[in-house]
Amino acid sequence: MQLPYAEPYRIKMVEPIYQSTIEERKKWIKEAHYNLFNLKSDQVYIDLLTDSGTGAMSDRQWAEVMLGDESYAGSRSFQKLDNAVKDITGYKYFIPSHQGRAAENVLFSAMVKEGDIIPGNSHFDTTKGHIEFRKGQAIDCTIDEAYDTDVYHPFKGNIDLKKLQSVIDNNPIDKIPFLIITVTCNTAGGQPVSMQNIKAVSALCRRHGIKVIFDAARYAENCFFIKGREDGYKDKTIQEIAREMYSYGDGMTMSAKKDGLVNMGGIIALNDEDIYNNAVTFNIMYEGFVTYGGMSGRDMGALAVGLYEALDYDYLASRITQVQYLGEKMAEFGVPVQKPIGGHAVYLDANKFVPTIPKEEFRAQSLAIELYIIAGIRSVEIGTILADRDPVTRENRYPELELVRLAIPRRTYTHNHMEYLAAALKRIYDTRHEAKSGYRIVWEAPIMRHFTVKLDKI
Ligand SMILES: *Cc1c(COP(=O)(O)O)cnc(C)c1O
Repeated sequence: MQLPYAEPYRIKMVEPIYQSTIEERKKWIKEAHYNLFNLKSDQVYIDLLTDSGTGAMSDRQWAEVMLGDESYAGSRSFQKLDNAVKDITGYKYFIPSHQGRAAENVLFSAMVKEGDIIPGNSHFDTTKGHIEFRKGQAIDCTIDEAYDTDVYHPFKGNIDLKKLQSVIDNNPIDKIPFLIITVTCNTAGGQPVSMQNIKAVSALCRRHGIKVIFDAARYAENCFFIKGREDGYKDKTIQEIAREMYSYGDGMTMSAKKDGLVNMGGIIALNDEDIYNNAVTFNIMYEGFVTYGGMSGRDMGALAVGLYEALDYDYLASRITQVQYLGEKMAEFGVPVQKPIGGHAVYLDANKFVPTIPKEEFRAQSLAIELYIIAGIRSVEIGTILADRDPVTRENRYPELELVRLAIPRRTYTHNHMEYLAAALKRIYDTRHEAKSGYRIVWEAPIMRHFTVKLDKI
């Protein structure tokens, strides 16, 4: 008999969470104008808003916090992080930054010019933002299968080589400085990219002198999927797979708040000396001196340890198993979820869940609010409110997918929490036909409205 999975760690410190009542939550969410971003964390029982910076550090990471060297230049903590990043990626140069978007800001300052075209697989929103802010264009070349929640494909984050070829054929080559491979592909639902695809994309890019940059926030999770799903990788360690993956690229940016297992931090790693020198100047202007870049010494030390812990097979197996378990349990109950389940989150398909609510009344947001009221769970809408208005017509944009994302923080919640989540979802699903109306907007900001929007019940 195969023994069930169990966490490869035990708990040394606990953080109590308040278990509120439905009556309290009804009052709080009304006061928050039905916007989950406006809730206080104490009003939330299980917080699945994001897996970014919300994970638990290990005893060894906390030990590094005490060992932190806060020297302005050349600190021991920087040396530890520098060694770890170069060892894992194989790249020659490393620049620290305070988080992922800061790394993008620094690197893109050195690499993106007005009129440039940056193809990739569903660029993350801050990545796209930093390209468009510099009057460049991010072109999404993800395979079509990524957009059908019912189709099974082991690597839905893959780049479509035909789409990429047509970007190359239809644009002056000097306008395409680099391509971005996002691992795992966050925007497509935490879906992995295969090594075969990375290799083929890299070969095509190298033939045309286009650099390959990884957006590596969840690269360890991606390597875990390669090990489990792709021929030839079963017997390789996660670290070996990561090293091979990085060998097909020229550099990376990373939000260390994900697979760095820390609460704040960012990484740039590169092979090209000229780009590095150029980026260092921007880093000193925006982030800090090149041996801290916006991070405390103690945080760099904790990150150096966290990077290795995130590559540990047992850790990754428990992490991914927990997310898959939640997704499969929900699917078993008939709850419509995006398939296959990604690495860091389960996505509910609100169009299938609550088709009885008019789409103009924000189906995904309505479902997220219900989940909060019934069970104290905070999720996030990835639907019409996030898609915002058309900049020209100012009409609401209705995206093909109306999703509610349940992002699972790393090493934070237990198996019982997953059981609770699945049961709560089933309860809401069983009474879904009663949902007839949703919400209307009473106030919204001109851009990025989802963070501050105020809603009222219809
Ligand atoms: C989180 C994330 C970023 C941005 O990182 P921050 O640390 O939040 O600034 C960039 N790309 C991807 C794929 C991410 O998931």
